[in-house]
Amino acid sequence: MSRFFKRVTPSIFPPYFNSKSDFDKCVQCASKDCIQACPESILVIQDDRVAINFANRGCTFCDECALACEMGVLTLENKKPKLNCEIIINPKACIAWQNTVCFSCQDVCIERAIDFHGMFNPIINEEKCTSCGFCVGVCPADAIHVAIR
Ligand code: SF4
Ligand code: SF4
Ligand code: SF4
Repeated sequence: MSRFFKRVTPSIFPPYFNSKSDFDKCVQCASKDCIQACPESILVIQDDRVAINFANRGCTFCDECALACEMGVLTLENKKPKLNCEIIINPKACIAWQNTVCFSCQDVCIERAIDFHGMFNPIINEEKCTSCGFCVGVCPADAIHVAIR
């Protein structure tokens, strides 16, 4: 008898999990309470599991999703200082790398994690960046990319 395994798309998760495999419990979660609890409305269901979408907003590490989850998938004791992704500026797409003034990403970054050289050539400071994602959706050139860890 052959066995079939469902392929799960790599996801950005709320920063309160122990193991990524814990999100398999989301499949049995009827309420999906974390979705409603998130004040930024960034949580979505992907492959029957909760995941983060940076299209409009980012994560504030506010704890609300962890407080709402009754399945033990998201817990305060597993809170992380960074999301499971890296945020990268693509110099070929970024207009501030082409001598055009733009501070859209820097304006929304509360961590001050984007270093400009004078007015141009922004680079993300990996030490400071929490991968919160707020800069992703505001970029007019779609130059900020997300690499899942
Ligand atoms: S409330 Fe918990 S178990 Fe339910 S979808 Fe959200 S993270 Fe998954
Ligand atoms: S920590 Fe807050 S902002 Fe981040 S996903 Fe959870 S509820 Fe949303
Ligand atoms: S550079 Fe990092 S900390 Fe700053 S807004 Fe972007 S993802 Fe958040």
